[in-house]
Amino acid sequence: MGKHWEWANTVRGHANGDLQELNDLLAGCSLLTSEDDNWKWSLHSNGVFKVKTLFDALDKHLLGVSPNLNSFYWLSSISKKINVFDWRLSLDKIATRVNLLKLGVSLDNNKCPFCDRIQEDRDHLFVTCSYIVPLWRSYLAWWGLSCPLPNGLNNILNGANFNTGSANSNKAAFASRYVLLWLIWKWRNKLVHCQPERRQSILKEDVMISLGIMIHLWFKSRSKWFDGDFETWKTCPRALIL
Ligand SMILES: [Zn+2]
Repeated sequence: MGKHWEWANTVRGHANGDLQELNDLLAGCSLLTSEDDNWKWSLHSNGVFKVKTLFDALDKHLLGVSPNLNSFYWLSSISKKINVFDWRLSLDKIATRVNLLKLGVSLDNNKCPFCDRIQEDRDHLFVTCSYIVPLWRSYLAWWGLSCPLPNGLNNILNGANFNTGSANSNKAAFASRYVLLWLIWKWRNKLVHCQPERRQSILKEDVMISLGIMIHLWFKSRSKWFDGDFETWKTCPRALIL
């Protein structure tokens, strides 16, 4: 486009102001004559529109995303309540003892309620505590994953290391991680609020059984790609994901 306009009628009145504004907008533009006109999506470097990039932009502006994650994944196969819990966890907005002390809440100590030795921050409580590591070991075995144990929460939430071999089983394994994090929090709260004489029996509870039952129930009701026989599910979930 050149700088010269040709008009059938003389431009007058308010239209003059509009024309000036348009000329200002176009002043920094140059047209590529070597290719056809097309739309470019400015929220991705390759210029191609994807719904996910729109969701990511909305999340960042409206909800907030942890600076340690590129994006937070909202999973439709599990309940909103658990999605919201994991999103808050990704932002470190969960009331661990370390976070409560930061907020000025008065506590006897900042120790993890499971091991009672190390301070209760989110990475310890959800990943590296000696009571929690066996859960992640069972999780990896259950999904047939040979990757190393997670070393922190960001590792669990971004999912890059957990490749099960197919898109649908990756989705299912991801959802299982979200639910496991939520179950760890429920388990922790039960321990914190129990009578001292119940502590040992609560510590012996098997969270993985609850995980298997909950996830099976949700996938059966919400996922088209899931063919759910519970006995197979308990030992080899990947065999049921179409
Ligand atoms: Zn601990």
